[in-house]
Amino acid sequence: MDSFNLTPDACKDFNPTFEKDKPCLSYIPYKELTQCGYCTRPDYYRCVADNLPIPLSHSSMGDWLTCHRLYWLKNYMGIRIKDACVSNAIKDGSLWDTCLQGLSTTVDIPGLIVRLEIPGREVAKVKALWNAFKEFGLEPSPGYDAQARIDISFPTCNNGQVYIKGFYDRKYPTFFEEDKLSSRPDHYLDTYFIHSQCGTYFLADPSLEYCTMKVVRVPDLKSTGKNKDEDDEAYYRRCYEDVISRPSHYFIGYDRAKHTYGRKFYRSEFNLDEIRNRYEIAAIEIQQARDWQREGLDGYYRDDKACQQIWGPCDLLPICRTGGLSERFIIRQDKGGR
Ligand code: SF4
Ligand code: SF4
Repeated sequence: MDSFNLTPDACKDFNPTFEKDKPCLSYIPYKELTQCGYCTRPDYYRCVADNLPIPLSHSSMGDWLTCHRLYWLKNYMGIRIKDACVSNAIKDGSLWDTCLQGLSTTVDIPGLIVRLEIPGREVAKVKALWNAFKEFGLEPSPGYDAQARIDISFPTCNNGQVYIKGFYDRKYPTFFEEDKLSSRPDHYLDTYFIHSQCGTYFLADPSLEYCTMKVVRVPDLKSTGKNKDEDDEAYYRRCYEDVISRPSHYFIGYDRAKHTYGRKFYRSEFNLDEIRNRYEIAAIEIQQARDWQREGLDGYYRDDKACQQIWGPCDLLPICRTGGLSERFIIRQDKGGR
């Protein structure tokens, strides 16, 4: 692919430049013109007139499987909840991931706490885990590539191309490690539920033999009785004492002698043919939905059954209810992607 591939009628704001290297005034091409470009306008994210595909990821595949409207809103329109408005569970997870990333690169933890407006009580929980993590010497073994990229593609049966992108938390030559912080660790220890993510990561590199899910439980101590008026510092101390006193409850698979935790899953436990097939079919369906939309049909239709999910209501429910963007939401402006 080496030329632009836009359908001007697909965008009411298409603004021709009559220049060979810029089909629309607002268009930002994706490098090498193999994938859908972006739009400079603040009210768009991806160029909706572009006929090239958006790369899939484990996460965007989840959007598509959950609800076609969800996929459209997040991946074409770039709609996100503002950092400060995400759930405490997401804030805790971001803080934990950032602490771990700090083992191999420079991170700004105070800046993250301010940007995400993480409540002091949530900071206390993660800080307790982090200090216990260091106390027990649970740092990962050296020799890994942090945030190693996944970037694969393969043809579809209809002469298209599937692109899959993503990042490993830590990639070693023959295995990878994924970090999870959760109030429900069992979810990440069930092959059925980690099939999509881990399977994608195995699919991306045939030399990977196994993965270790490094699952950590979020403290859930209540401030009742004599603790009902405790401040964040007192809450932190209680959480820390609890983590220190029963590490295997918090660091799943904790091994005191080896200074490790986590649970191994082997490549053979994942049906990679099924995962590859699902990506291929989803890529075709997404292109088909886009074509229907251009013919005036609701290709990215709402799936009302998916609005109430196992973790709570869909993040974008206010948008689907009202049809408008409230102050809780933003349109991504990181045009060009990661
Ligand atoms: S989405 Fe933006 S770049 Fe694409 S045609 Fe419309 S205005 Fe132009
Ligand atoms: S609120 Fe429901 S219909 Fe709307 S994007 Fe979420 S799951 Fe889909």
